[in-house]
Amino acid sequence: MILPRFDVLVPETVDEACTMLSDHADEGVRLLAGGTDLLVDLRRPIIPQHVPRCDGCTTHPEGRVLSTIECAPSDSDPLMASGGSIRTALEGPRHAAPAFLVSLHKLDQLRGIERLADGGLRIGALTSISEIERSPDVREGWTALAEGADSLGSPLVRNRGTLGGNIANARPAADMAVPTIALGGTLTLKGSSGTCDIPAKDFPRGPGLSVIKQDEILTDIHYPSPVPYSGSAYYKLANRKALEISTVGVAVWLALKEPGGPVADVQVALGAVGPVPILAESVREALIGKVPNEKTLLQAAQAARGDARPIDDHRGSAWYRVQMVEQLTLRLLRTVLKRIRDSK
Ligand SMILES: Cc1cc2nc3c(=O)[nH]c(=O)nc-3n(C[C@H](O)[C@H](O)[C@H](O)COP(=O)(O)OP(=O)(O)OC[C@H]3O[C@@H](n4cnc5c(N)ncnc54)[C@H](O)[C@@H]3O)c2cc1C
Repeated sequence: MILPRFDVLVPETVDEACTMLSDHADEGVRLLAGGTDLLVDLRRPIIPQHVPRCDGCTTHPEGRVLSTIECAPSDSDPLMASGGSIRTALEGPRHAAPAFLVSLHKLDQLRGIERLADGGLRIGALTSISEIERSPDVREGWTALAEGADSLGSPLVRNRGTLGGNIANARPAADMAVPTIALGGTLTLKGSSGTCDIPAKDFPRGPGLSVIKQDEILTDIHYPSPVPYSGSAYYKLANRKALEISTVGVAVWLALKEPGGPVADVQVALGAVGPVPILAESVREALIGKVPNEKTLLQAAQAARGDARPIDDHRGSAWYRVQMVEQLTLRLLRTVLKRIRDSK
């Protein structure tokens, strides 16, 4: 594989890594975790000719080569309105060859899976997908995440790929991002000016676009403690069983008020059916407070279908994808309810 020329910088601390990101912003700099997304990205040709040009919205009055998806929400959205401080899929260092890669491999504080005193879980951004797949804690308390890990790539890719890389890459089909959203995960971003926590659902802003700033690093992902009578599941529908990007991915987390009682809370996240993973808000309206039965579960699955915004592509048509959102949501709601019953 022929890659463009770059220098690799190896920081010893997270602060040093943030400084490197801001010092080399003008020359082009990218973070390197497992490299399974990044190195593929770097092989791509520099800014394709057909990329639409923004001729000057309020965020980019000078006009730049950009995805229209970035410009569309930017005028009304203060996060997007920070313009150049947000890394984007099609501008600057992302597709142009960066002069520097900042390798995270020495930052051991970014690795590991840890049960927290409040019952929650902290996973360091540099933790490999394999480690998550093998963790009994994750499988027991945050099953949807373990099932996301099972479904990602191949053993080789899972050994190198990291949770942070999968989420930071901000792809609509990312198999770890979708369960992270359904499980109510929170991302910790550290930059030169401090640390902030944001809900995982608010992180992506378009394919390859996110709210992360130029000098920020995703350091940890926190998952809330499992509540009584709750469970989760993830299913990836793809054309092959391995080494395949999902056609549709659905993650469900659900909690009952009491065994056999009404739904206390539910979160359904959808992958590959919109420009970002989608939290299907309509499912909450359809199911919270209702006793789950075939009628209410079907209503919830139909609500999820209404929240999907798919496109036609070589993996499946938009029509097929919305049918699958309904079917998979229904199937996963039943699976989660069975898991809750069986765990009594
Ligand atoms: C053959 C193959 C199959 C694949 N199959 C799947 C699949 O089935 N499902 C799926 O979801 N993905 C798949 N992928 C994509 C990829 O393996 C995963 O997304 C992986 O988790 C990325 O992690 P990484 O550590 O390799 O990220 P990298 O490639 O190192 O980084 C990805 C991006 O995130 C940024 N980044 C990395 N870490 C951080 C951080 N801590 N803070 C801020 N930014 C950061 C990088 O700068 C880069 O822009 C596949 C890739 C390959 C090559």
